[in-house]
Amino acid sequence: MSERFSPKVVPLVDLRAGPLPIPVAAAPTPGLLRDTLGRNLRDLRISVTDRCNFRCGYCMPKEIFDKDYHYLPHASLLSFEEIVRIARQFVNHGVQKIRLTGGEPLLRKNIEILIEKLAALRTLDGTPLDLTLTTNGALLARKAQALKDAGLRRVTVSLDGLNDAVFRSMNDVDFPVADVLNGIHKAREVGLGPIKINMVVKRGVNDQEIVPMARHFKGSDMVLRFIEYMDVGATNGWRMDDVIPSAAVIQRLQTELPLLSLEPSQPGETAQRWGYANAAGTHDTAAGEIGVISSVTQAFCSDCNRARLSTEGQLYLCLFASHGYDLRSIVRSDASDQDLATAIGSIWSGRSDRYSELRSALIAETGAAVRRVEMSYIGG
Ligand code: SAM
Ligand code: SF4
Ligand code: SF4
Repeated sequence: MSERFSPKVVPLVDLRAGPLPIPVAAAPTPGLLRDTLGRNLRDLRISVTDRCNFRCGYCMPKEIFDKDYHYLPHASLLSFEEIVRIARQFVNHGVQKIRLTGGEPLLRKNIEILIEKLAALRTLDGTPLDLTLTTNGALLARKAQALKDAGLRRVTVSLDGLNDAVFRSMNDVDFPVADVLNGIHKAREVGLGPIKINMVVKRGVNDQEIVPMARHFKGSDMVLRFIEYMDVGATNGWRMDDVIPSAAVIQRLQTELPLLSLEPSQPGETAQRWGYANAAGTHDTAAGEIGVISSVTQAFCSDCNRARLSTEGQLYLCLFASHGYDLRSIVRSDASDQDLATAIGSIWSGRSDRYSELRSALIAETGAAVRRVEMSYIGG
């Protein structure tokens, strides 16, 4: 059997075709971009590693991502210089927010150096970027101060439950919840806030943690977001039955913790906001708010302003895309920054992705096993 199709090598993208050709049409450069559906480019997510110290079943199931799994060799990864060079052109095209992700971004050696370089970039208005990072929190207590010192603004921490046994089984490496809570505490202490907490809800696995998690974070200055379990990648065995729709999460919370719907705080926001209500039925701002991210049951593609740069420099226009555009080959050629900016502009100008809106029709047409890029490769 060829290595390509060995059971231990999960193709991250459909290998029958290479990366998508980069369109050559001239695009405004630099400057604010609009795709074919009129959506601006505002948010860049950069995956800095495809490795992780957790094995969450919904993302990197142990049976596949085991000791024989072939991770990307170091030479394939974008260097920090390459990442910054690409990021600079995105910022010149209107990006205001950069999120570092992975895999587990805190596993990338010397991540603070990358953060320091990205923190020096300025938006088209001359303001610093909203520079953030999503982490599983395992290394956060150790690294929070260095991240803050390097110029990171804030963090989002993934936490799928407070019950230690549930949490250990969700991360599938027996990692104790207390250590993540300690990391969150430390991040808050050093000023990496406002902190967001992401909880992926999987039916029958951690849905009993919905109310305890809400109670725990209510009244803190942290915003807990409940994420619908998504059909990303091709390895997590996703089934619609495992998804608890956000509407059901809200309903479950409402029975104990009255909530009211809040306006979005900015365009393109992925989470719908709900505030805790006081006895008068208005928002109790001291109690705070929660968010729900309904990527499965309520598509939010119409104002999706996010681009994703994979660990090896492929640009993905949608979390559910099966192919990316190879920006690494540009930065490893003798192309100029201007060429790079033009390529990014052309790619975004031709974007028409809206997977979540088309999901139901696609699944009916092609079956649930449509091969897509893994979340650990392009990041959440
Ligand atoms: N390792 C880091 C972490 O877990 O925070 C960053 C990368 S992880 C891929 C980014 C986010 O994607 C996490 O909040 C994770 O819970 C979420 N995620 C991963 N797989 C998912 C899935 N199948 N459905 C919904 N969210 C998912
Ligand atoms: Fe690792 Fe994050 Fe994926 Fe969990 S969700 S396996 S922590 S990359
Ligand atoms: Fe954006 Fe794709 Fe998600 Fe729609 S499905 S919101 S286009 S990432």
